[in-house]
Amino acid sequence: MSLTKLFHPSTVAVIGASRQEGHIGREVLLNLMDSFCGKVFPINPKAERLEGLKCYGSITEVPECVDLAVIAVPAKIVLDVLQECNEANVSNVIVISGGFKEIGEKGRELEQQIGDFARDKGINMIGPNAIGVISTGSNLNATFAQEMALPGNISFMSQSGAFCTAVLDWANEVGLGFNHFVSLGNKAVLDEVDLIREWDSDCNTDVILGYLEGIDRGRKFIETAKNVTQTTPIVLVKSGKTKGGASAAASHTGTIAGSDNAYGAAFEQSGVIRVDTIEELFDFGTILAQQSPPEDRKVGIVTNAGGPGVIAADALETYDLELAQFSDETLDKLGEFLSPLATRKNPIDITGKADEDDYRQALNSVIEDGEVSSVLALSAPAAIFSYPKIAEILSNARDTIDKPIVGALMGGKLSAEAQKSLKEAGVPNYFDPGRAVRALSALVKYGDIRKRKYEPIKSLIPEDEVIEKKVSELVGKNGKMIGLEGLSILEDLGIPVVESQIARSSSEAKQIAQKYSSPVVLKIESPDIIHKSDIGGVKVGVEPDQISYEYDRMVDRVRRNFEDPDMEIEGVRIQEMVDGKEIIVGVNRDPQFGPLVMFGLGGIYVELLKDVSFKVAPVSELEAKEMVESIDAYPVLKGVRGGSRVDIDGIVEIIQRVSQFAVRLPQICELDLNPIIVNAEGARVVDLRMRLSR
Ligand code: ADP
Ligand code: MG
Repeated sequence: MSLTKLFHPSTVAVIGASRQEGHIGREVLLNLMDSFCGKVFPINPKAERLEGLKCYGSITEVPECVDLAVIAVPAKIVLDVLQECNEANVSNVIVISGGFKEIGEKGRELEQQIGDFARDKGINMIGPNAIGVISTGSNLNATFAQEMALPGNISFMSQSGAFCTAVLDWANEVGLGFNHFVSLGNKAVLDEVDLIREWDSDCNTDVILGYLEGIDRGRKFIETAKNVTQTTPIVLVKSGKTKGGASAAASHTGTIAGSDNAYGAAFEQSGVIRVDTIEELFDFGTILAQQSPPEDRKVGIVTNAGGPGVIAADALETYDLELAQFSDETLDKLGEFLSPLATRKNPIDITGKADEDDYRQALNSVIEDGEVSSVLALSAPAAIFSYPKIAEILSNARDTIDKPIVGALMGGKLSAEAQKSLKEAGVPNYFDPGRAVRALSALVKYGDIRKRKYEPIKSLIPEDEVIEKKVSELVGKNGKMIGLEGLSILEDLGIPVVESQIARSSSEAKQIAQKYSSPVVLKIESPDIIHKSDIGGVKVGVEPDQISYEYDRMVDRVRRNFEDPDMEIEGVRIQEMVDGKEIIVGVNRDPQFGPLVMFGLGGIYVELLKDVSFKVAPVSELEAKEMVESIDAYPVLKGVRGGSRVDIDGIVEIIQRVSQFAVRLPQICELDLNPIIVNAEGARVVDLRMRLSR
């Protein structure tokens, strides 16, 4: 379904138009009449004329084809109105009316009805409970907001209507323009996925910004955004960083993985730039709308004051950018005109005694240096320094080079005029050098995203249904939880597990012990126990001749600690003991995004340290590598201070296999491989916990 006529209609009807002052239907009508050049049809059965226009009793009476209907009638008659719209072949509607999902169960039902109807009839519906839609390209203000937006190349959507009106007023004040401006409302039909797809193919939208509270079609979102962000940057604020459903989790992964981790992973994987604040949203949007990403992260800084230069240099580190190393040629050039007190190396401090011409020369030398891919122009007010002239120098530079350039001409009144001309020239300027660096980092981030290669998923797990069969057998036997008895499933998946065997009596244990010449690990085998070591059900470093003795001790100990006489103990697992670093690979199923894979350093401290990374499954080899490399403790795995490098390829493979397993079997709710013990020779699973839905 095309949304072209939603944003570029020739004819618009306002259903529920009114003459009553302050009535939403009246505000929408007036806004349309103010801006829109196409035809406007007020609909109201109780009026002949409104604001000088002929009024119709129903949309079905309008003698022309209506491209877009704005609906502002009470919630209970919205469905009837939609039916009339359908009769009149109107295929784009904006439902402004409130009184739906946002008011509770009754409203939710109504919303379901209108959503189902619109979807069924192929009607593109924005809302309900929305402020409306602005599209500056067609002078369309189909909202009840008090203002029209300025034209621009940013398209913006917001799930909060109140936020829309606030942003609109502020944006007009600071001169920020929009191409499309959409209040999503309750998203009964059209949502962010539809809009980013539409705006990607819209040549007047260069950047997509959004404020979202939730995404319902998680996997569709990822799939769509992945494509869109290759050509159009998307920056989003997602509010509500609460932990969803964590308290009920039975696994480590489930405890750590909240829905916010899923959003974080999904945004990251689909190339969406996520920001935390409104300030960042619009700083990022503004610079992305004006300038192109630099080649790499190397920044040249020019300043006339030491302090701001240091602040900027620090900020480069914070935002993962680098100070460029100037070439000898640049250093020579700088030496020709800079005073001996000036700093020639990056950041160049031309000192407060320098004039505008020195600034221009310094700036040009930096810009021309092949090592520099973007430029930060800082300045503090100085007696012999005219800010408007500096602004002119920056604007000229912006016109002539295609390296990003950001200003921090610091000051208030003194910088106001410069600020204005920089805005016109497309050079963002901030008081705070740190904020300037942050804005620049958005360009670099987007450059990285555009360079990204999305690898196809190589299927690593067996195609046949052996695994499904085994899992359902175990579900039948052990209810919803599967423990070490599931190790053989992992083997089928091609995941290396440590060798082990169950002894069902101490005499059987004695027999098995003969196989071993070095210490082993004993683990209690019981369907009733989730955390074995908590109740004395794990003993490491047991000498082979002690196995049978420790068998009896463990069974006694566990019975005593468990305090449930009906506990079933099947025996004791004798497991080869391995030496290495403990890691965890886990899965948690997110309601919106599906299986979320977690990787981190494992063992008992995993929940405490939370040094973990997440991705939405399935993950490619490259993504699995990124997961491993992105934890803080990665150097520990790589080998620091004489420690040896562990088998990272082995971990990367396990992550991929687990992610494919979780996608294949929707009944997996939670899965922990914790720990996997990894050393230079390989990674092997020693413990497993899986929770299934029936
Ligand atoms: P649970 O998580 O149920 O308490 P685990 O099987 O994970 O039981 O064992 C607890 C801890 O014992 C592990 O984190 C690890 O430190 C150690 N351990 C378990 N199995 C082995 C093994 N095969 N080799 C070495 N250490 C082990
Ligand atoms: Mg464990």
